[in-house]
Amino acid sequence: MSNLQEQQQQVFEVAGEEAMVQFGRKLGAALHDGSVVFLEGDLGAGKTTLTRGILRAMGHEGAVKSPTYTLVEPYSFGDKVLYHFDLYRLADPEELEYMGFRDYLAQGNYCLIEWPERGEGILTAPDLRVMIAVNGAGRRISIAGCSAKGQQTLTALLRDVSG
Ligand code: ADP
Ligand code: MG
Repeated sequence: MSNLQEQQQQVFEVAGEEAMVQFGRKLGAALHDGSVVFLEGDLGAGKTTLTRGILRAMGHEGAVKSPTYTLVEPYSFGDKVLYHFDLYRLADPEELEYMGFRDYLAQGNYCLIEWPERGEGILTAPDLRVMIAVNGAGRRISIAGCSAKGQQTLTALLRDVSG
């Protein structure tokens, strides 16, 4: 299983904020309903910028702010909801239980989660792990598919980016 995950990891070089939004659009277009995506990387890596691109793919043209103090921001699209989490200020993973985190996941909604490591022990495995690192003036994005759904998304994204 872990070998399979390793094989499914892909690396993308993305330089500049606009390219990051475009990359997010492609990722968003490839996402399956109800996908849970971990967005990992330091402060300033580009997690929220990537989220903006994903939301653009779903038709949200407005502002996207990181919900640093509220922990979660919902965006509605027809009968689907995308929840954008930023767990940076989560003091204890248990707080997620009080927020009713399991209900967010249960209904087949999308969940994008910045700082998932702060929720360790409560968060379940994601479909995709997106790891962003600063690389010169740009960013290196490593994406691992952690479920069949996540792997399909990664395959579609690769085709889109290289095609
Ligand atoms: P995070 O949510 O990870 O803290 P942000 O998305 O707020 O990070 O982005 C921080 C900064 O990084 C912003 O100024 C943004 O323009 C810049 N940035 C985002 N993606 C890229 C990229 N691929 N290349 C260069 N700069 C980027
Ligand atoms: Mg952020």
